[in-house]
Amino acid sequence: MSEYSEYIIYGFEITLIYLFLVVVYKFVKGSTGDSALRGVAIIFTTLLIGIYLVADTLGLYRIEKLLEKVVDYLFIAVIVVFQPELRRGLSRLGQNRVFNRLLAPKDDVVPKIVASIFRLARGKTGALIAVERGVGLRNYVERGIEVDAMFTPELVDSIFYPGNPLHDGAIIMRGSRVVAAGCLFPLTENPDISKRLGTRHRAGIGLSEETDALVIVVSEETGKVSVALKGDLQQDLSRDQLEKALRENLGTVLPSVNTEPATVGRV
Ligand code: ATP
Ligand code: MG
Repeated sequence: MSEYSEYIIYGFEITLIYLFLVVVYKFVKGSTGDSALRGVAIIFTTLLIGIYLVADTLGLYRIEKLLEKVVDYLFIAVIVVFQPELRRGLSRLGQNRVFNRLLAPKDDVVPKIVASIFRLARGKTGALIAVERGVGLRNYVERGIEVDAMFTPELVDSIFYPGNPLHDGAIIMRGSRVVAAGCLFPLTENPDISKRLGTRHRAGIGLSEETDALVIVVSEETGKVSVALKGDLQQDLSRDQLEKALRENLGTVLPSVNTEPATVGRV
């Protein structure tokens, strides 16, 4: 067999293993917090390498041979599990001007989200938008109506258009896609939340208490825009404040988000 076809087969196998691991990881991550999963991955990896080193030192030939194979391919699992960290690392690298030129974000979704939110606010159209971060929102997606479409202001406008069958409840975004609409979130039971805030705001805060999602709320009554994160509600945000909140907190989940100070899309 020629050297080239050897390489092609190698690449093909690595890709297959990678895809398999991605599917398994996504499946497990869907409903659990992935920090626990990472903890397990770190312990498991350290253990494997530890046993390998011990077997190597003591000359436990069979165990060493067995683990050699596993350790050979461990780097693929590491790439899958630590993809967000790797991406963050790359995005730091991406803040370098030269890299920025080379890898200029093709489609920055943040200005689109900001414009869309303030269009809804101007028209006093109530809206609730959760953006998934590390903790999977699959449970909430499954109980809503699955959509799966690119985020566009037109799509969001039509979803929240009063009278639209999907306008009640929230939409969930994963990356720059809208994955579900008409979703119900748990209402916060925090007694310190102002009595003036109704169920839309309470649902936004509630989800941000139970998961690490960032939730944007547009009030139908006041046209004000708020963001719920980790159980806190920042109210009455300006465009710039919303843009800053999105850039600061969604750097790893919206791949094209440039975390440098915002200069694009400001009005
Ligand atoms: P607004 O300022 O827009 O009036 P609010 O905080 O006062 O908001 P309500 O007036 O109670 O809240 O808003 C009701 C709407 O909030 C519902 O029509 C529905 O679309 C949405 N909503 C209510 N409960 C939930 C929930 N558990 N999950 C998602 N959305 C919800
Ligand atoms: Mg209300």
